[in-house]
Amino acid sequence: MNDHHADGTHGDRSPKGDGDRLATYRARRHFDRTSEPRGERGPGGREPVFVVQIHQARALHFDFRLEVDGVLRSWSVPKGPSADVHDKRLAMPTEDHPLDYREFEGVIARGEYGAGTVIIWDEGTYAPLASSTTERGRTFAEALERGHATFRLDGSKLRGAYALTRFRGGPDSTEREAWLLVKKKDARAGGRDAPDPLRARSVRTGRTLRQVAADERDD
Ligand code: MN
Repeated sequence: MNDHHADGTHGDRSPKGDGDRLATYRARRHFDRTSEPRGERGPGGREPVFVVQIHQARALHFDFRLEVDGVLRSWSVPKGPSADVHDKRLAMPTEDHPLDYREFEGVIARGEYGAGTVIIWDEGTYAPLASSTTERGRTFAEALERGHATFRLDGSKLRGAYALTRFRGGPDSTEREAWLLVKKKDARAGGRDAPDPLRARSVRTGRTLRQVAADERDD
């Protein structure tokens, strides 16, 4: 079963409307024992950001995160994003993360939630595409609630239009949500798959997972 929760690295997002969208995120972490951010609201009035982190937890995966309403909506993508329009990449929703989680590259201590090494593989801004939002008078958040959102990424590595589509679970279902992340046809489409995560390098520091882990041991 391709359920990311089974490896213990992620759980479901917290219910909506509980007043604190980061309650689940914070409850799982001991901020005196992990250097992950506690979470603060980001500044408004700029383009929303995205980040893709590679996370060597019990299962190696990519964490795909989009800024929506002041938090990072997050999906765990085991195989990572592909630029090939024929590749449908499983994307399992995980709890909202604070906006400043996009700054996190380092090691989550053994025994802690999500223990393992994280690199920032790619980052940039994104723009919601009219096909899923403004054309129909919806916000991007509403498009996600309805289970289909398209957006254009402007990152260092990932560029062009992508779609996230829920194919299981949702508001009228008790099943755990599952989504697909798929490249849309455009000038940026074609061929390039996600890198081997063990060889991939941080967009910020050029380091591999192994180097980040070694650097932290040396501190
Ligand atoms: Mn993760």
